[in-house]
Amino acid sequence: MTLRILDILHQTMADGPGFRTAIYCAGCAHHCKGCHNPQSWDFKGGFEVSVDELLQIIKEDSLSNVTFTGGDPFYQVDAFTELARRIKQETGKTIWCWTGFTYEEILADEHLAQMLPWLDVLVDGPFILEQRDTTLLFRGSPNQRIIYLTEKEDDSIPGTVPLVPLR
Ligand code: SF4
Repeated sequence: MTLRILDILHQTMADGPGFRTAIYCAGCAHHCKGCHNPQSWDFKGGFEVSVDELLQIIKEDSLSNVTFTGGDPFYQVDAFTELARRIKQETGKTIWCWTGFTYEEILADEHLAQMLPWLDVLVDGPFILEQRDTTLLFRGSPNQRIIYLTEKEDDSIPGTVPLVPLR
């Protein structure tokens, strides 16, 4: 199984707490006004990489946890679910995932929701330019939520919502 990605950032500290391997995927149809990364909208942009190759790259960095961003990883939900499942089953790493869908939209769609059980944190919702707040950590506008899906991360980051029980 392959994913279409734009970039892999190593040991970044901008995409969640601590050091992270950040996978920037290609493709987003939310087209938020003022998007920080409109070059990521093209579903044919970037290059293909297999789940196995990405997993190997992630495993090679024993220090970093993992981030899925883009683009929107939920437009490639089958491949990202496979990657997330293997990360959780084969490493002790946490996964943060950014999406333009709301948590409720994902929960209502069985196909999208397949990835949720393998994520630790979901940062959800579209960026709303009129509400832009540059003081927010890891979010562009306050409608976006940092949702804890497991107890793997602490809740010391402002703007987080309590643990959401999935199952
Ligand atoms: S969801 Fe993110 S990547 Fe997609 S258009 Fe909105 S801000 Fe840009």
